[in-house]
Amino acid sequence: MEFYLQQADQQAHLGAWVKLFPEEARMRAKALDEMQQMGVALGPLHGVVVGIKDVFCLAGQSVQAASAILSGFTAPFTATSVQRLIEAGAIILGVLNCDEFAMGSSNEHSVYGKVLNGLDPTRVPGGSSGGSAVAVQMDLCMLSLGSDTGGSVRQPADFCGIVGLKPSYGRISRHGLIAYASSFDTVGIFSKQVADAALALEIMAGADDFDSTVSTLPWSATEGADADFSGPFRFAYLEDTLHHPSLDPVIRAAILARLEQLRAEGHVVEPVSFPLLSYIVPTYYVLTTAEASSNLSRYDGVKFGYRSSGVHTDLTDLYQQSRSAGFGMEVKRRIMLGTFVLSAGYFDAYFTRAQRVRRQLLDQTDLIFKQFDAIIGPTVPATAWKFGEKSADPVAMYLADIFTVHANLVGCPAISLPLFQHPNGMPFGLQVMTNRLKELPLLRISERLMQQ
Ligand code: GLN
Repeated sequence: MEFYLQQADQQAHLGAWVKLFPEEARMRAKALDEMQQMGVALGPLHGVVVGIKDVFCLAGQSVQAASAILSGFTAPFTATSVQRLIEAGAIILGVLNCDEFAMGSSNEHSVYGKVLNGLDPTRVPGGSSGGSAVAVQMDLCMLSLGSDTGGSVRQPADFCGIVGLKPSYGRISRHGLIAYASSFDTVGIFSKQVADAALALEIMAGADDFDSTVSTLPWSATEGADADFSGPFRFAYLEDTLHHPSLDPVIRAAILARLEQLRAEGHVVEPVSFPLLSYIVPTYYVLTTAEASSNLSRYDGVKFGYRSSGVHTDLTDLYQQSRSAGFGMEVKRRIMLGTFVLSAGYFDAYFTRAQRVRRQLLDQTDLIFKQFDAIIGPTVPATAWKFGEKSADPVAMYLADIFTVHANLVGCPAISLPLFQHPNGMPFGLQVMTNRLKELPLLRISERLMQQ
């Protein structure tokens, strides 16, 4: 614990931690040590030092989703995911920076300021869970939680050279996770090893009275129908992904070489055509902004956090002033876009149509998983970009999500594995995706790929 507190001090310039609980964490570490000395049975995460993204509720502590609109808000309860880690022996050391309401791909949109990539401080750490990624990358904690609605765990993991796991939709309870887009949101894990992510997943997974979308099927990282899954594996790669014009040629070459190597090792590796690829970013941004505009309507200056202190002529004026001052630019952009696509005259043209594309994506993806165990490819088209590079052009930023949003649109689990190094000095990952609720094969495959 002392080591991690020292690290927090020494690496404060990275901007990853936004809040630390040094006294609570020291006391808890001591209590856990005493339990060990007394011979009490230890939890599977005994003494594991964890950081949580600023979108998880921890009873009695402030939580802000990196937004001014939640300043002054204190969580009345603890998120189920976090509670389960604590019960397994983890120590929650603090809260980690992110993009406001988890909207972003660079951690540049945060009320706390930006987070620096520990490998190159002129580059972004990725987002929205940038703080959670840098915390594991730079040994500020052992394991961290993020949320992944469209890539916010896998993309920063790719940019920081660590493991980022997004489970299936409905694998881990979202109770106590501040909502962005409820039919996409998942709790994700950052770690250095696949086994650590698997352990944390096992602990957090499973039914919860507070979230009826969670799968009630028992799930274990070591047991069950898929436990003996040992290969050879059947891999599909999406041709449209590898030929996408936005893909860095170095990343393309590295992935193709790895595919060749897998083939040589006896795995089935085949190209699959995926013509829907160019629709997935628009579909994602229509649907998530629609859900966000609905979810974020609760922040009205009355019920949570910030209230404008100006003179208000009426209730609408109070809402307007509070929301205008409380939300940042990117969040406002999305609320407006989402409200637009849901408005009476445009609902069918945008929202309904995007729902149909989502359905088709699901069907096409199911067809692939009838023949293959996993889809593999790049996590992100490029390595971590420089600060400011994409800030002026939100669409350029959105397009960088092209390979990650697929898994969220269809609810599949996916992981980014830190397997590659670019000549520019930055790491990049391999993304593996399996069918819904197939985390066990995903983890088995990932372990194998990491060994190599
Ligand atoms: N970059 C994506 C977005 O801004 C993903 C965010 C996320 O997964 N929370 O919507």
